[in-house]
Amino acid sequence: MKALVCNTPGEFSYINKEIPSVEDGMVLLRMKRLGICGTDYHAFEGTQPFFEYPRILGHEIAAEVANAGTSTNFKPGDLVTVSPYFSCGTCIACRSGRTNCCVNIKVFGVHIDGAMQEYITVPASAIVSGEGLTVDELALVEPLAIGAHGVSLAQLNKGDTVVILGAGPIGLGTIAFAKISGAEVIVIDVNDNRLSFCRERFGIAHTINPLKEDPLEQLSLITNGEFAKVVIDCTGNLTAINNAFRFLAHTGKFIMIGLQKGTIQVVHPEFHKREAVLMSSRNALPHDFAYVIDCIRKGLIKPLDFVTHTVSFTQVKEQFNQLLTANDSLIKALIRFDE
Ligand SMILES: [Zn+2]
Ligand SMILES: [Zn+2]
Repeated sequence: MKALVCNTPGEFSYINKEIPSVEDGMVLLRMKRLGICGTDYHAFEGTQPFFEYPRILGHEIAAEVANAGTSTNFKPGDLVTVSPYFSCGTCIACRSGRTNCCVNIKVFGVHIDGAMQEYITVPASAIVSGEGLTVDELALVEPLAIGAHGVSLAQLNKGDTVVILGAGPIGLGTIAFAKISGAEVIVIDVNDNRLSFCRERFGIAHTINPLKEDPLEQLSLITNGEFAKVVIDCTGNLTAINNAFRFLAHTGKFIMIGLQKGTIQVVHPEFHKREAVLMSSRNALPHDFAYVIDCIRKGLIKPLDFVTHTVSFTQVKEQFNQLLTANDSLIKALIRFDE
């Protein structure tokens, strides 16, 4: 079988290797689709912190069970996705059921080799049934689960005003789930194409481009001076995060899905008088995956709207640079393993 290895930043090569044998508790999957994530682009560029090379990238999986091994929950031919955050089960986070932020987490395609290969083996416990979804939809479940997890932490009530910063692939999923919760969503992004996508495809009434208008002034107008009950950052941009604390209503909650490397600055009296909450949102939990799949089955979210590019597995090495620089038009690229 073929695998695509990122040898060092900027360099991919295809290798041939044996189809892995199926150890106890593991399941052999044949890859059908793979979503390309910001993490993969950063790993290829060499800007992903703590990344070791060589590495096989990829964690947004749509696959078919090839050999279910000792698992009785699946049979060959079943379409599945994978929760790619393998947790230890014994640390302080795991013991309280929060396996998404396990102390010893191993993310498939990040800390260990991932899914840019024709066959993979993963623990049976990480496999999620994709019944009722197409393979294209299935490849979008993991990135959508990231947004769903952040929205679940927000504990939104109907009518709450939510500001979402960043309308990239993670931001768009977050917007969709905040809307499903009945929130009034306001989107802030510096890219007008993305803002018009939000207005046209998601029916978002209020979008703000901070390069063109003062977001604080606009938010004050939209919310009658009350500002946002919840702010969710999906940019991972330090300036955007620091500026957005001002968007919080009194009693507001600030949730960071995006990640950056710098130090956040909070003006204490401003934060204090609001009795505000600051939280990070990492990865996703099994119930987030189940919720995403349920929303797709019910037609509440249409993940194929996000797919702007597809590339065949054998062409990834050649086309990866083009995808990297496709900025404006690219939302989500999918790798197809069929052809
Ligand atoms: Zn991802
Ligand atoms: Zn753990």
